[in-house]
Amino acid sequence: MAHSKVSSPPLLARLGDAMRRHRRIIVSVQWTVALVYGILIVVPALLPLPPRGAAILTNLTLFAQFVFWGIWWPGVIASMLLFGRAWCGLFCPEGALSEFASRHGLQKRIPRMIRWPGWPFVAFVLTTVYGQLISVYEYPKAALLILGGSTIAAMAIGFLYGPGKRVWCRYLCPVSGVFGLLARLSPVHFAVDRKVWDSCATRPIAVNCAPLIDIKHMQSASQCHACGRCSGHRDAVRLAARSPNREIAGAFSENVSTPEGLLLVYGMLGIALAAFQWTASPLFVRMKQAVAEWLIAHDSFFLLQDSAPWWLLTHYPEAGDSFTWLDGASILGYILGIGLALGGLIHVCMLMGARFAKTPRFDWKSLALTLVPMAATSLFIGLTMLTVTLLRSEGIVFAWMPYARASLLSGGTLWSMWLAFRQVAATRNPIWRSCLTWLCVALPCAVIDAAWYLVFFVR
Ligand code: SF4
Repeated sequence: MAHSKVSSPPLLARLGDAMRRHRRIIVSVQWTVALVYGILIVVPALLPLPPRGAAILTNLTLFAQFVFWGIWWPGVIASMLLFGRAWCGLFCPEGALSEFASRHGLQKRIPRMIRWPGWPFVAFVLTTVYGQLISVYEYPKAALLILGGSTIAAMAIGFLYGPGKRVWCRYLCPVSGVFGLLARLSPVHFAVDRKVWDSCATRPIAVNCAPLIDIKHMQSASQCHACGRCSGHRDAVRLAARSPNREIAGAFSENVSTPEGLLLVYGMLGIALAAFQWTASPLFVRMKQAVAEWLIAHDSFFLLQDSAPWWLLTHYPEAGDSFTWLDGASILGYILGIGLALGGLIHVCMLMGARFAKTPRFDWKSLALTLVPMAATSLFIGLTMLTVTLLRSEGIVFAWMPYARASLLSGGTLWSMWLAFRQVAATRNPIWRSCLTWLCVALPCAVIDAAWYLVFFVR
């Protein structure tokens, strides 16, 4: 990709500069969010489960559940598409606490093992699957275990490594890879003008970029937390508008790593989709019933017991909700099986598309990036399923929801298809090659649409 020429509207540039100047306000906001976050994940876990008939506005547990999973998470996903990773840099309590611990901790060198680029993929898959096994969306103790555990780990990593850095966010956070992919579609970013940077006569004090970015060479919004600390640095860094298509339509193989490609294909489009769908899947029910009948016919009852602790499998007898060992094995098998099958299909399509394109610097990973809008739509729709369910239990029903979901899916599909068209057009291949490459993106989009269609319109 070409280095970006800075030509931002003055308003955006001024906003970036204001973020740099008013760092104290940002830090105050971060501490406030951290306090609210702490209260909402700790207090409900200490309370009894909500009684029958409890409501969001009168029961703290339901309120926290709605805030976290119904508003917070879908909102964070949407914010990535609108403002890049500003959530991470301005509001995220985990990032702020990790950075704070890093400033006052041991400030050791970061070991090579932590820099392994596959951690975001592995952490995302493990968290997604584990969250389903212990019903993280439904029960406050499960939410405290996953969210609180992640926060403690972030602080511990911050305490060990630094100084004043966000080592956790950069290398280990389970959602940093997802956020990095979504932020590539952001219409605003901190742009670096290399010519101005190089020609700067003075040597200003280096900026402390908490997520450890080499600012001079930054060409992507993927890792930037949009914290504003480098705004105006050497007169070369400015908050600026850009086309949301620019990063992906112009991407080459060197602009996306293999772990990022795998996270997108197998994680966001495969395993996350399966994790959203298993509760509504007739295939899941049939598969589990068949195994249960087989076990009963063979007088084998261990797997049909619900004796697992709550931190391993959902276990709330007081709410009449306990998973048997068979439930746990079926959920694990379904999510991993469907996730790998979907991801495998998409991966093969991307490999074939890159083969048809037959262009240097263009490979399956750069083609897969065109599916980011599809993945964003799928994540948003999956996360808002709980929002809709919680509101329905309060008597709030949106009759237009099926249309909204269909429109969002259509929008994500069209956006991905457009990005694929732009990439394919840039290869300047014969029309038949271009069509085949484009179809290799169209097929996964159709499969993802069909998967959601089955959930919302067929069951
Ligand atoms: S490059 Fe670093 S310092 Fe600059 S806005 Fe992004 S995260 Fe902040």
